[in-house]
Amino acid sequence: MAELWTLECSACGGTRDAQGFPTVCEQCGQPYLVRYPEWPERRPSAPPETGWSMWRYSAWLPLRHGETPVTLGEGGTPLRESTRLGRRYGLDRLFVKDEGPNPTGSFKARGLSMAVTRAVCAGARELAVPTAGNAGVATAAYARCAGVTARVFAPATTPSKILSEIRRYGAELVIIDGHIGDCGRAARSYAAERGAVDLSTLREPYRLEGKKTLGLEIAEQLGWHFPDAVVYPAGGGTGLIGIWKAFQELRASRWVTDELPRMFAVQAEGCAPIVRAFREGLDRCTPWPEPHTIAAGLRVPAPLGDRLMLRVLRDSGGAAVAVSDAAIIEGASDALDHEEIDAAPEGGAALAGARILREHGLLAAGDRVVVCNTGAGWLYRA
Ligand SMILES: *Cc1c(COP(=O)(O)O)cnc(C)c1O
Repeated sequence: MAELWTLECSACGGTRDAQGFPTVCEQCGQPYLVRYPEWPERRPSAPPETGWSMWRYSAWLPLRHGETPVTLGEGGTPLRESTRLGRRYGLDRLFVKDEGPNPTGSFKARGLSMAVTRAVCAGARELAVPTAGNAGVATAAYARCAGVTARVFAPATTPSKILSEIRRYGAELVIIDGHIGDCGRAARSYAAERGAVDLSTLREPYRLEGKKTLGLEIAEQLGWHFPDAVVYPAGGGTGLIGIWKAFQELRASRWVTDELPRMFAVQAEGCAPIVRAFREGLDRCTPWPEPHTIAAGLRVPAPLGDRLMLRVLRDSGGAAVAVSDAAIIEGASDALDHEEIDAAPEGGAALAGARILREHGLLAAGDRVVVCNTGAGWLYRA
């Protein structure tokens, strides 16, 4: 059977077929991206009566006829026009894409629904994942749903509620005294030893495809239009890269003909490798020595997707800004106080970033701005 998609290295352009479960490029160690053939009739399916999930976009996803997705109803989250918050920040057309309502409480559900689906289709019985927290909860839940085992490697500093959710879904949890990079090394050696599938961010190409549905959904919720700007709290980078990939695919298929939006990354002052590399005009990061911030998902000192993120920011005419933990807390309380959104600290960071970008004139008052709240706040409370 002819493959519906192929894999193309994001750095050297090398290609391979989609047999089995791929990792990074064999030639240069950089992430593969999924490439689809021209497919003019690609369109979303009608929302099923049982609800609106990201699988409505399966025509844009790596799924063959007859394959069944591992799904818990992820996606279909609200895009909230936030006029009260917008007034406070000087943004007349502010929208918050609220990913908190996803199964397992974060947008990680999208990526892991897709990646666990592909892993199971490739015959995987055992999964391994390093996490700053939410990817571990999502892996645990989707593995359980698929009837396979998951081993999750998380830093000891992960919020305790998140750790207990990982256990509650029945994953084997390994606590690492270190950051997500150390967890990644542990997960990789475990996976190599056991023959488990390693689902680390961008070490396989499918989590990104699931995250891409965030961009497809934003465009659809704006009536198949792009916003002027997207503000995203970037850690590993799959959200930022995935939203951009969605917008590019929508343009390439002429489903949306607007100008592509500017993409902005927000990081925490205590871990801002992308912000530093962007300011210095570099095309990759140097590892951030001692990452610290309350926004656990942003504690990624050396993201594998650094080149891709920096390319998205520059190609889109965007930028990167860092915010303090105090501003992150204020951003999250603003979301609750003015819009009744229970934002994760990472969402608080994105809001704080949008405020700074407006103050610095990088966002105009009339811009249609989408800020991503990537997860639910309750997971971070004791
Ligand atoms: C993982 C995570 C992030 C960072 O996402 P990337 O797409 O990997 O940059 C941001 N917010 C939350 C809540 C997360 O769980």
